[in-house]
Amino acid sequence: MATMNRRIVLASRPHGEPTPAHFRLEEARVPSPRPGEVLLRTRWLSLDPYMRGRMSAAKSYVAPVGIGEPMTGGTVSEVVRSDHPDFAAGTLVSAFGGWQDFSVSDGTGLRKVDPALAPPTTALGILGMPGMTAYTGLLNIGRPRPGETVAVAAAAGPVGSLVGQIARLKGARAVGIAGGPEKCAHLIDDLGFDAAVDHRSDDLPAALAAACPDGIDVYFENVGGAVFEAVLPLLNDFSRIPVCGLVSGYNATEPPPGPDRAPALMRAILTKRLQLQGFIVWDFASQIDEFEAAVGGWLREARVRYREDIVEGLENAPEAFIGLLKGQNFGKLIVRVA
Ligand code: NDP
Repeated sequence: MATMNRRIVLASRPHGEPTPAHFRLEEARVPSPRPGEVLLRTRWLSLDPYMRGRMSAAKSYVAPVGIGEPMTGGTVSEVVRSDHPDFAAGTLVSAFGGWQDFSVSDGTGLRKVDPALAPPTTALGILGMPGMTAYTGLLNIGRPRPGETVAVAAAAGPVGSLVGQIARLKGARAVGIAGGPEKCAHLIDDLGFDAAVDHRSDDLPAALAAACPDGIDVYFENVGGAVFEAVLPLLNDFSRIPVCGLVSGYNATEPPPGPDRAPALMRAILTKRLQLQGFIVWDFASQIDEFEAAVGGWLREARVRYREDIVEGLENAPEAFIGLLKGQNFGKLIVRVA
């Protein structure tokens, strides 16, 4: 077995868009598990927008990555050495191994991945954290009813693509917003969305209005910014807005130009009786078994689909992550590490 552990550490904190210089590839000795622990070899690493927040020192819902520390991240890893009764060597697990070849764990948070049930990478996407985000945010906060219109942005990504598909399974009309004609065609042709709107089109408000003739009853917020401004006038009375992510602003260094939008937003919340609720997926941790049973079942019955964007090699993770924040990924972004 390898004796060295390649790992990508945070070299410095970005102001604005991250560049490769904010990361550093290092080699360290493979860590030694202590009694009761397992040694994990990373097979696949998940890249997710929230990692931009971990690079920043700003106060958030979890602590940032320290300078010189490996970037954190969800992984599908193989147990290569075990002193833990529940995880024999050879077992595949979903873990929080980070951007590195090897990690150790005392078993907390590990979940076994059965490759006979679904491809292991789905544990990082449709059957993992992004899938659970879509399922719990939409059903607990969005609560779509048959005949309603559900709009979602970043719709070709792992969260948005499942939001739209579940909306349709619940009898609602799904409108996806995505960047570029190829992603929009994928929403309609492969995922069964009722309509798709390119957020880079010349007149986004008009294009979105045309795609939502009855207004919007549920807006699953993934991006914020110009997309939210196009959505706001279309929201119907009593619409529900799960606020999941604001990726358009993750690299922002100053507020958007123009007038303060907060008064208009507060007025819309009042007069239209909007229900906005922010959430973090683990607020619904108790629903993980229900989520796995429901989405796992739909996947086996081919009632939901997913798309992956697999990048080869740990050393290519920084560039792939930088691209994720600009929409260069097409589907769930995963790095094949070993
Ligand atoms: P994606 O794989 O969909 O990647 C993000 C996508 O955002 C890009 O591909 C791009 O798609 C889109 N995007 C980036 N910039 C803009 C912009 N300026 N305007 C419009 N779209 C933009 O990511 P995920 O599915 O993993 O995550 C989606 C959202 O959910 C993120 O905001 C993420 O932070 C959030 N999230 C929140 C969780 C929670 O617990 N609250 C948990 C997991 C995710 P395109 O090419 O279509 O523009």
